Amino acid sequence: MEEEVIETESTVSINNAPNADIARLIDKQRAFFNAGETKGVRFRIRQLKKLKEALETHEGSIIQALKADLRKPELEAWSTEIGVIITEIDYNLKHIRSWVRPQRVPTALFFMPGKSRIYAEPFGIALIIGPWNFPIKNVLGPALGAMTAGNCCVLKPSEHAPHTAKALENMISEFFDPEYLVVTQGGIPETTELLKHRFDYVFFTGGTEIGRIVYQAAAKHLTPVTLELGGKNPCIVDDNSHMQVAAKRIAWGKLLNSGQVCIAPNYVLVKKTVKKELIEHLKIAIEEFYGGDAKSTDDFGRIVNDTHFERIKKLIEGDVVLGGDTDAKEKYIAPTIIDNVKVTDKIMQEEIFGPVLPIVEYEDIDEAISIINQGEKPLALYIFSKSYNNRDKIISQTSSGGVCINETIMNFGSVELPFGGVGDSGFGVYNGKSGFDTFSHKKGVMTKSFLFDVKQKYPPYTQGNLNFIKFAIRKLI
Ligand code: NAD
Repeated sequence: MEEEVIETESTVSINNAPNADIARLIDKQRAFFNAGETKGVRFRIRQLKKLKEALETHEGSIIQALKADLRKPELEAWSTEIGVIITEIDYNLKHIRSWVRPQRVPTALFFMPGKSRIYAEPFGIALIIGPWNFPIKNVLGPALGAMTAGNCCVLKPSEHAPHTAKALENMISEFFDPEYLVVTQGGIPETTELLKHRFDYVFFTGGTEIGRIVYQAAAKHLTPVTLELGGKNPCIVDDNSHMQVAAKRIAWGKLLNSGQVCIAPNYVLVKKTVKKELIEHLKIAIEEFYGGDAKSTDDFGRIVNDTHFERIKKLIEGDVVLGGDTDAKEKYIAPTIIDNVKVTDKIMQEEIFGPVLPIVEYEDIDEAISIINQGEKPLALYIFSKSYNNRDKIISQTSSGGVCINETIMNFGSVELPFGGVGDSGFGVYNGKSGFDTFSHKKGVMTKSFLFDVKQKYPPYTQGNLNFIKFAIRKLI
């Protein structure tokens, strides 16, 4: 059984689409989009329901595939890859009619008699490029926003989660016409080719450096882009926290998917006076989770490939107070805590993306804020504190994609909250209405009556015209 679970990439053949096929595919999608069917709300509702049915039908094969690629435990696979999407589909189905309705906005006196509305117009064809860590959620989440907004989509899952990429392709091709929704496979060369074509929107989730490449490729066509990137997410624990609960939530957020989560706490910034207590509680929590041997349980995943395994392994050095053991054959890295880490240490220079938690101490909250602000803007920032003053201070004096107070990761699951980065962690948001908005061009439409024509706007211009226009622009708009 074990061997089957940790199969490698080579066991699945990826069906790379040649360039000419991609061009044909895009042409077909463009023709379908131009025919206008995706603009109808009934069509969109049908597609969202179909996506839900597809996920429910293929639930088993997706969970199997996630196990083969990442040894993802079933509970994690279902909740973070399938459950979240089903919840979001239901949410979008509930609200789509109000979202697509042109939104009335006030019309200034100067434009009267008239009306102003904002139409949410689909861009056209969206290219969605996904990473391997949440290979379903990070492809279907954006796709859901795009579909709700009335776009056609080309989905490019990561080649590093090949079983899941194939399972996604099987599911989508069984339920959807490729002229509306299609999966195309491949790695760097295929994605590079794909990006040479003109799309109407590109939504990329992945590493910051690749984000730059995607952004440049899209710029050639002036295609709007959303970049969902990574970074180093700080987790502050002050001395006014519930240490036991904080430790449990931090350990959970860090060890989910073996730490291969873009919003995992990257490092803990803890007040010096409570550091020992926090570390003790972290150890207890991890012991409770895995009974002292994460390797032998089904509840702890593996590192995606040898390259990442070797990279993370090299980060384990210094004052290791828990874990540290690794197994290259299984791509296993134990839940690891490193104490007395300095901001200048190697582990603090890159996104860890593995189950290794560095502990950095601070003397006062200003020092913690200054450490965060020395780095690039993170995707997520976590604060464990009962102090309103500290929380407000941290929120107002730092910048991050999102913040979660007294919990980790959970902000990711809320359809009411926009999800996205800032600065080096990316730009643009999605989730529920935010996803719909991202994939909609907001078209301002003014309707004027033929009555009352402002004559002063027409040449020949006189001083009287100018005086009137000055008055009108100052007072009537
Ligand atoms: P990656 O950037 O290596 O790959 C992402 C996608 O880009 C893949 O589909 C890959 O095929 C494609 N790609 C890779 N190189 C390319 C190139 N040169 N040109 C064009 N396309 C290319 O990222 P990854 O390793 O799959 O994922 C891990 C990264 O993703 C981490 O940094 C993580 O923080 C980030 N991430 C961010 C979020 C978020 O929501 N912000 C979510 C998950 C992962």
